[in-house]
Amino acid sequence: MIRIDFLGTGNAFAPHGRLHSLALIDEKILIDTPPTLIPQLRRKGINISSIEHVLFTHWHADHTFGFPFFLLERKYISDRNQEKIPSIYLRPGGKKILSNLCNVGFPGSLEDIDKTAIWIEDEEINLIGTNWKFTRFPVCHTPETDPHGYELTHSSGLMLLHCGDSGPCKEIEKRAKNADVVILEMGMPDIGNFPHHYTPNDVRAFSDKFPDTFILVTHNFSNSGNAIGGFAMPDLPKGVYQLEDGDVLEISAERDFKISNNNK
Ligand SMILES: [Zn+2]
Ligand SMILES: [Zn+2]
Repeated sequence: MIRIDFLGTGNAFAPHGRLHSLALIDEKILIDTPPTLIPQLRRKGINISSIEHVLFTHWHADHTFGFPFFLLERKYISDRNQEKIPSIYLRPGGKKILSNLCNVGFPGSLEDIDKTAIWIEDEEINLIGTNWKFTRFPVCHTPETDPHGYELTHSSGLMLLHCGDSGPCKEIEKRAKNADVVILEMGMPDIGNFPHHYTPNDVRAFSDKFPDTFILVTHNFSNSGNAIGGFAMPDLPKGVYQLEDGDVLEISAERDFKISNNNK
């Protein structure tokens, strides 16, 4: 059984009913550390130190600013003897960015950054202690944030494509053909031309190109449910699922897909 938790599904603005986006695979592999990471994990009852691998997509604050809290919590609360050092997978230069963030946020508390985490810059690797391996690939987003996505392959052969924060791009489409599940971040509404973000029209075009692929939309610009202000949820084609906070995707050995939600 594969399990992917979408504890938060909002973009940088945390629209009504949504916290910032992250994906948690098999309760061990975390993609991105948004500012609301710790409350999201607490609400779900997940022990912070049970997360073994953290994969970063890029350096925007809505994907990284939870990192100092993540290390601080482990050091002082859930892994005081530092027996469960997490592995951090990131692009070259990322260690410096995240170290600075830790020192700005908690000066004097997280200076031993090499003791509190293992830093790995490989572009592809097996995630030890899990059934997954990944290949990282560049995507189309604010260049200063060194944006990337992850092609995650399970030992059963299932392929999960996490596209990171991106606009439509060839690298994603090249890989989507072989993917069983594609996670798209739909950061902007159809109010203009945004090459660095998928919009609903871009998602519709993507779905037309890959009609047999199961497409999950997260990092959503729209409100969840009815709210005053902000943007309403767009209509998207069948085969595209707009995730809500608390959604869980379970995939059985027979490749049956089930989405449920315990928050509701
Ligand atoms: Zn973002
Ligand atoms: Zn971004």
